[in-house]
Amino acid sequence: MQTIQIFKNDIYKGHLILVNQDHPIVSPISFNEMVTVMDQKIHRDVGRLLLKIFDDLQCHQEIICTSGYRSSNEQSVLYESSLKDYGQEYTQKYVALPHCSEHETGLAVDMAYYQESIDKICPEFFYDGICQEFRDLSYHYGFIERYSEYKQHITHIGKEPWHFRYVGYPHSCIMKEENLCLEEYHEFIKQYSLYHPYIYGDTHHIIEIFYVPIYDQETLCFQDDVCIQVSGNNMDGVIITAWRTCL
Ligand SMILES: [Zn+2]
Repeated sequence: MQTIQIFKNDIYKGHLILVNQDHPIVSPISFNEMVTVMDQKIHRDVGRLLLKIFDDLQCHQEIICTSGYRSSNEQSVLYESSLKDYGQEYTQKYVALPHCSEHETGLAVDMAYYQESIDKICPEFFYDGICQEFRDLSYHYGFIERYSEYKQHITHIGKEPWHFRYVGYPHSCIMKEENLCLEEYHEFIKQYSLYHPYIYGDTHHIIEIFYVPIYDQETLCFQDDVCIQVSGNNMDGVIITAWRTCL
């Protein structure tokens, strides 16, 4: 048997953390967890997977990453300059408050179709051609298009076709299949527990997913042949992803 110990500070770390205006970042990413990809600093797992997508699509000449990690200070500067240049309505729609931006996690990237001039806040990333191919493939690597117009009443961020957030596979595919944004996904997963997990099957694996509330600390036991991933939800617990079987 393997034993997994989960502590209160694990709530605030991991690929599934919810960061929005109601849930600011508690545990900032450290610099040794980051790599530089296409001139942008990003979480090392995210950077490697992003390059895999680029290799699969051979799209290095057509798509670029315009924004990855931002410190809270950089987010403040961006927010203030957007307020000054574009006003309050535009800024609230497209720019997150400092400490509340997914870019501060290192898990979010802004993508742009390569053109001579690229809008820094709202880059063009189309719903056809190579951009759509990127969008379709990115789900299989654990990315979601985070801000759709249909979820604006929940996310409080305008439609951003360019903003992709890494949440990890198979969470990205479940969110797409069930049409859930990250806020809704966390509510959805809270229905599932160790003894009643959500089961996701693809051609190679059976993956169990469930929520564990963390009050102080928690100890969980699993068989040795199960691969366990733990991510906090940045609220009150963790999500366990258990890769049980290779068929
Ligand atoms: Zn973004």
